[in-house]
Amino acid sequence: MRVIAIDGPAGAGKSTIARALAARLGLEYLDTGAMYRGVTFAALRHGLLLDDIEAVASLARSVVLEVSDAGVFVDGVDATAAIRTAEVTSAVSKVAANSGVRTEMRDRQQQWATERDGGVVEGRDIGSVVFPDAELKLYLTASPRVRAERRVAEAGGDVDEIERAIAARDHHDSNRADSPLTEADGSTLVDTTGLTIPEVLEQILRLLESA
Ligand code: C5P
Repeated sequence: MRVIAIDGPAGAGKSTIARALAARLGLEYLDTGAMYRGVTFAALRHGLLLDDIEAVASLARSVVLEVSDAGVFVDGVDATAAIRTAEVTSAVSKVAANSGVRTEMRDRQQQWATERDGGVVEGRDIGSVVFPDAELKLYLTASPRVRAERRVAEAGGDVDEIERAIAARDHHDSNRADSPLTEADGSTLVDTTGLTIPEVLEQILRLLESA
């Protein structure tokens, strides 16, 4: 099984790079953040209290998530745009800190890769917990300002406000008890500040050759 694990904080360019790398290597790509966003969308839709750990974990076990290039479908509903709203974005870290949710998502991610004999998988705990034996583990980052500017270029908004929201989410993701965002053992740090997408891709392809 050939797995490339890409982790890092919000707005580091993980999705763009993971998608491009998957295309170059003829592998499929999985955005695990979209899975946590999908569970959050479902929990809000059902009016669950996010502090109700058992109810949210139980929902995570039953919800039907389809995450692919075609979009993100949650129980058959097209949630591709809805999972990127400020409402879901500000709630997702709380749902992602729920251990019952994480256990279920981890199982689904491992099953996804087994079915395909590998893939490029992007998230926060991919190299540390989900695929510790990945062929290549990358930790993608960039300065907080640049990450906020990229988000604004993609989706609009106020750069100072987005920078604060990103910092709050990173803090939450890095300090939770279960599988926090961290540089996995054996991972390579790639700082994308000031680099173009093709430059980052070249750097990663060189790392793969020497891996
Ligand atoms: O990657 P994205 O910003 O869409 O991820 C949304 C959220 O999902 C993260 O802020 C984090 O709380 C959670 N997440 C996670 N573990 C992953 C991927 C995402 O906890 N592997």
